[in-house]
Amino acid sequence: MRLIFFGPPGAGKGTQAVRLEATKGIKQLSTGDMLRAQIAAGSEIGLKAKSYMDAGNLVPDEVLIDMIESRISQDDCAAGFILDGFPRTLPQAEALDVMLEKRGTPLDAVLVFEVDEGELFERVRRRAAESLAATGQVRSDDNEDVLRNRLSVYRNQTAPLLPYYTEKGLIKAVNGMNPVEQVALDVDAALTK
Ligand code: AMP
Repeated sequence: MRLIFFGPPGAGKGTQAVRLEATKGIKQLSTGDMLRAQIAAGSEIGLKAKSYMDAGNLVPDEVLIDMIESRISQDDCAAGFILDGFPRTLPQAEALDVMLEKRGTPLDAVLVFEVDEGELFERVRRRAAESLAATGQVRSDDNEDVLRNRLSVYRNQTAPLLPYYTEKGLIKAVNGMNPVEQVALDVDAALTK
């Protein structure tokens, strides 16, 4: 199964993608995690990406497109994958279509996690506090000012993908405001319909 998990930052895409990878063996590909790994490794891509990420802006399309193209070609993606955080712009979505068409492996669904903005601020506050307690560190983009910018980037650059995928008949929506266990049931139900 090839899926896109779509929604604003903090909507719960990562939590559900990690769960589906564990239960169904579909590889979770988080572009945010990949970029953070590049930063940790001190690579050229990481150096380039860091300032965009810290400000809550998007890293240039060509970096992401190359990264996803080489990642989905690997053996562990042969049975399928969940794209978590990609695509985030129209050029990324169009490049993904070209890649998948070339392989003859179309998308099965785009699962949209719907969450109110007020709840997203609450979640970022909670996530930062939990991370600080557990590791003594907070993701450099986990604060309210950066979230405000990330939401405006989402509204302006990413949300316009919804009509793109609606036209292709791929959209399935889940209510991301529900408790995580209920969202899990709704995700499973949406994917078996
Ligand atoms: P995430 O962990 O998905 O919230 O992503 C963290 C940050 O990584 C984003 O705010 C962007 O700066 C960058 N990023 C992740 N995925 C993409 C993407 N598909 N296109 C551009 N930038 C991205």
